[in-house]
Amino acid sequence: MQPMTKQELRLADRASRLGTESAFEVLVKARAIEQKGKDVIHLEIGEPDFETPANIVEAAVRALHEGWTHYGPPVGLPSLREAVAQYISESRGVEVQPGEVIITPGGKPILFFSIMALAQPEDEVIYPDPGFPIYESVIRYAGARPVPIPLHEEKDFRLDVDQLASLITDRTRLIILNSPQNPTGGVLSKQDIREIAEVIGERNIMVLSDEIYSRLIFDGEHYSILSEPGFRDRTILLDGFSKTYAMTGWRMGYGIMRPELIAHMTRLMTNVNSCTASFTQIAGIEALQGNQSSVARMRDEFQKRRDVFVPGLNRIPGFSCRLPKGAFYVFPNITQTSWPSKKLADALLEEAGVACLSGAAFGDAGEGYLRFSIANSLENLTKALDRIEQWVKKAL
Ligand code: PLP
Repeated sequence: MQPMTKQELRLADRASRLGTESAFEVLVKARAIEQKGKDVIHLEIGEPDFETPANIVEAAVRALHEGWTHYGPPVGLPSLREAVAQYISESRGVEVQPGEVIITPGGKPILFFSIMALAQPEDEVIYPDPGFPIYESVIRYAGARPVPIPLHEEKDFRLDVDQLASLITDRTRLIILNSPQNPTGGVLSKQDIREIAEVIGERNIMVLSDEIYSRLIFDGEHYSILSEPGFRDRTILLDGFSKTYAMTGWRMGYGIMRPELIAHMTRLMTNVNSCTASFTQIAGIEALQGNQSSVARMRDEFQKRRDVFVPGLNRIPGFSCRLPKGAFYVFPNITQTSWPSKKLADALLEEAGVACLSGAAFGDAGEGYLRFSIANSLENLTKALDRIEQWVKKAL
């Protein structure tokens, strides 16, 4: 055993400004409950429950045998940057060059690096509320001012463009968009994106467009602000492999941005990660260029689950849920239960054996909601509905 130190740990101020993702905390709590012998259905963590498609796994194994086990360029392997540029050019309808692509260990570093590279004290960053908690966390860490833009349930959790206009000031440095959205499943339409682009106009504001769920859309089509005329230089597009190809643990994502900014991100990569694992990058080429039928199969399965889970929730007294148009999250309004979100989420975990997240963990505007991840089997989702219903009958 190490002797206890008498010296107090003196953390930098910025360390206290870093937030977290409650999904990981609830997962730990749920595992502890399971250790005591109680069964828990996991609807808290946002990762596909499918295996990574076999063609991608095989490509990684081949790459390991071929010796792709060394450092690579911090910005990413040229072959994968080319494959990403081609994929984004085709899917977003704009000609993207490999020099505008950076490969990172997951999509998350693009978020962290973008905010760290662009925002400083006095700068304002607009981000969706409820939204992925890492946005606010990193904005605060950078010392910038977080400016939440509320999403509205009655608008299927799209933002109000007039409200966005009212939040933009001379200090706005960055606007974060996320579609399809975590935690609400909301999707911005082409019309929404057009109006957002119009509101930003010619201002020198960067847009971080988090499109990590771009291939998980059930109704309508994905549209990126990158495709809007005049936004090529002002857009940082974040996408990756985690959600589309069930590769969360591989840690691989990418950003598309103008080459000047790529240079700064590359320096951050050199300082933090050196590079993204080389053999996973080789497998990434197979993911983008190989057979895409597994992507469609996973999407269809999520849709099937959504179509069972949402009507099931709507049958439970006190729950009212819109049909999400994308991603794999369901975000019911629970205000009619009269319970605060966190208390209800805790009770569902501890008493009903269903792990989900409080909407308030995604921002103030998430109070009154819960987030369920439907990345679990239909059988377990049906069982979860049953457990919630039984618990509600007893407890409410
Ligand atoms: N953006 C959003 C909205 C997410 O929900 C996630 C993961 O949960 C990410 C980015 C990061 O994904 P990853 O780093 O696994 O690629």
